[in-house]
Amino acid sequence: MIQVSNIERFATHDGPGIRTTIFLKGCTLHCPWCANPETWSIQPVLLHDASKCIQCRRCETICPNHAITFPFTWKQDLCSDCRKCEDICLAEAISFSGRKMEIADLAAEVCKDWDYYEQSHGGVTISGGEPFTQFEAFLALLKACKAAGLHVAVETTGNFTQEKLLQALPYIDCFLMDCKHLDADKLAAVTGGNLALIQANFAYLSKHCPDKVIVRMPVIPRFNEDCCKDVIDYAKSLHFKEVHLLPFHTMGKSKWHQMQKDFHYEKDAMMDKESLLPYVDYGKARGIHVQIGG
Ligand code: SF4
Ligand code: SF4
Repeated sequence: MIQVSNIERFATHDGPGIRTTIFLKGCTLHCPWCANPETWSIQPVLLHDASKCIQCRRCETICPNHAITFPFTWKQDLCSDCRKCEDICLAEAISFSGRKMEIADLAAEVCKDWDYYEQSHGGVTISGGEPFTQFEAFLALLKACKAAGLHVAVETTGNFTQEKLLQALPYIDCFLMDCKHLDADKLAAVTGGNLALIQANFAYLSKHCPDKVIVRMPVIPRFNEDCCKDVIDYAKSLHFKEVHLLPFHTMGKSKWHQMQKDFHYEKDAMMDKESLLPYVDYGKARGIHVQIGG
């Protein structure tokens, strides 16, 4: 069994061709700009949409574990995942991120769009969260997808041990791997990431299969917006052929609110794609393809 947050069909920004993207639960990082904070916990997470809520408090009354109190607060440690609150909410203000699925059922779901993958040279992308977090189940999913003949891409932070990389590598065709910062202290302080671990994985992939790697950098205000050239140079030094600069966006903001959490970038506007265009030429001059967006 594997904990899944979401399945998105007909995705076109998560690797080549038309794809199905599976968002797995669980992450070892905690990036404050995250567009999918509901995936951090492997366990199910309640999302409460205050704009729909009519304050009837039926959810509070029905909860057998007193996990819901008002003003609306949900205590994950008290919740037994019975979903009675979701069922009783007439306003559809409550939803959950997280459902357990059998690996075989998930692979079968992905294979429904086989014709589209074939025509577009697409496949499946396993994302998160950090897909390596539920490692044993993730590995089983990789094997099932490969056995079905799918092209398999993985969106990853690279923040896992090399032992896990070696086990998963034979079943992965494409790594969409983040390089968020090259300063170990800053990366650790802001995201919890371990740069030594990430760079060891980049180095291994560079040595054994550089063509499988696309380096991705989310460009974030006041965190790494001055580091794009450094990341492009780093990718070039490791013989990778492609870097994607992902402009900061605020599309995940409402999820932070629905989890009763403050969004760190509340006052920041979406980043203008045009502002990153000079890096395309910077890459071209150095013989590496730089793309704005995924
Ligand atoms: S049951 Fe739904 S509408 Fe009623 S208080 Fe709970 S979340 Fe709000
Ligand atoms: S899922 Fe069940 S235990 Fe959890 S908050 Fe809702 S009613 Fe309470």
